[in-house]
Amino acid sequence: KNLRKAVIAGNWKMNKTRPEAKALIEELKPMVADAGCGVVICVPYTNLETALALTEGTNIGVGAENCHWEKSGAFTGEISADMLAEMGVKYVVIGHSERRQYFGETDETVQKRVRAALDAGLTVILCVGELLAQREQGITEEIVGLQTKVALGGVSAEELKRVIIAYEPVWAIGTGKTATAGQANEVCRYIRAVVAGLYGQMAADGLTIQYGGSMNAKNAAELVAQPDVDGGLIGGASLKAPDFTAIVEAAS
Ligand code: PEP
Repeated sequence: KNLRKAVIAGNWKMNKTRPEAKALIEELKPMVADAGCGVVICVPYTNLETALALTEGTNIGVGAENCHWEKSGAFTGEISADMLAEMGVKYVVIGHSERRQYFGETDETVQKRVRAALDAGLTVILCVGELLAQREQGITEEIVGLQTKVALGGVSAEELKRVIIAYEPVWAIGTGKTATAGQANEVCRYIRAVVAGLYGQMAADGLTIQYGGSMNAKNAAELVAQPDVDGGLIGGASLKAPDFTAIVEAAS
């Protein structure tokens, strides 16, 4: 575990106008300045410029919540990885379950977006996770293993250093139902074994694998203490500076 870096990343989803974003970042900056883990905020496209300007010279990294796989073209409403990179954005969330559920994202489109993001020089936060019905059928590992393998298709060992995987059981996202620390660790460990099969044990040991799904100030410490859980991807609790800070402190 001490071979790798814990990262706490906020996923703001479709929240915060620019004045609201500014207020949250200003509040957060001094609170996480001494963090002993990586700190990232993934914000709506409309807040990227604000977030980049306000976090310049700080320990807070800025990410987007998605990107398209083409460099440019007739894709109304989409944003390319190159557009993000040019702004100075360093991270991008790919394959979030809300994109898979509501916007037709598939393992194949996730793979294409991962490719584009890595080509643009971004670090990818790749989300994988099973539905409740899949867990109940006992196929969690099969699903998560397949999502991981397809998404990493064509990713080189060198590029893997710019990949973070977030294990997010879909039944735990935004539901207040957190996976137990044991469940979270079990699947994170499985993902690491899948990655070891593809890239070797050294690469797998260096990979940051986060847990996500209703992580909050109260349950974070137990989750991030698990041997295969290297921080978290935080939705709801990333929208309030004290809550997000408490999670950062738990992972520090
Ligand atoms: C997420 O959006 O990635 C997430 C984990 O959300 P929440 O923390 O609100 O469950």
